[in-house]
Amino acid sequence: MPNNAAELLKRVRSDSHYRESQGVGIIVSERLLSEPGVTHGFTTRRGGVSAPPFDSLNLGTSRDEPMENILANYRLLCEAYGLDYDELALVRHEHGSTVLKLGSEHCGRGISKEPLDFSDGLVTDDTGVTLVTCHADCSAFFIYDRVTRSIGLAHAGWKGMYKRIGQRLAERLTAEYGADPKDMVAVVGPCICENCFEVEKEIAEDFAREFDCPDILKEKPERPGKGYVSLHAAALIQLMDAGLELDNISVMRHCTMEEKELFYSYRRDGKDTGSMAAFLRLR
Ligand SMILES: [Zn+2]
Repeated sequence: MPNNAAELLKRVRSDSHYRESQGVGIIVSERLLSEPGVTHGFTTRRGGVSAPPFDSLNLGTSRDEPMENILANYRLLCEAYGLDYDELALVRHEHGSTVLKLGSEHCGRGISKEPLDFSDGLVTDDTGVTLVTCHADCSAFFIYDRVTRSIGLAHAGWKGMYKRIGQRLAERLTAEYGADPKDMVAVVGPCICENCFEVEKEIAEDFAREFDCPDILKEKPERPGKGYVSLHAAALIQLMDAGLELDNISVMRHCTMEEKELFYSYRRDGKDTGSMAAFLRLR
């Protein structure tokens, strides 16, 4: 039986909410909040020092904004949520499916020290490093295995989603730490939604084939030749293909393009926009 995107999105847990500390706003998942072993969050634009069009919590280092502002924003995020600034390690994404294993020796990379090698996913079982990824319409995968006490965090643009970066992340936790997918808890971050994410119809058809899911692709009569893809459905299918249970997955059902007050969106604003960040660490 082919996968059914509408059915999966209806059944999956959607348990995220907005929270603020010291003016810094983030999205959190109830499912991961209930795990005492991890700290996580997906930032919004609220609470930083950046001026328009980057207002105000831009955490993307590839934007045309002074680095001192971006580092000030990272410090504000750390103070608000009890993270150690010197323990952050920021992915240098490549829109692929490479996963890097990190340890305490990588603390500061991409922030106060030289960038990491190119990758889209990070895994660790080290309690001394905080994994960080950047996003502007691209989703995130957070995975926690409480049995082996290991975590993975990934950036998933549409290319990485198509290349199954979420599945690769889960597989790497198994390969490195012996984590069983049945024990893993996963959260999929906000992204551009299936009503907004327009691509050439051929790309949408590729998604339908890759994920064996005809209804992952929608069309609009007024937009001939174009297709609309549910990235969240692609995320769910690849996590389940990796062996995770749907009951152990939650989705942050926000649309970064529509919710302008909360999120940066590359599709909406082009290069004149900032980036959100996802963070995950063991406690
Ligand atoms: Zn949308």
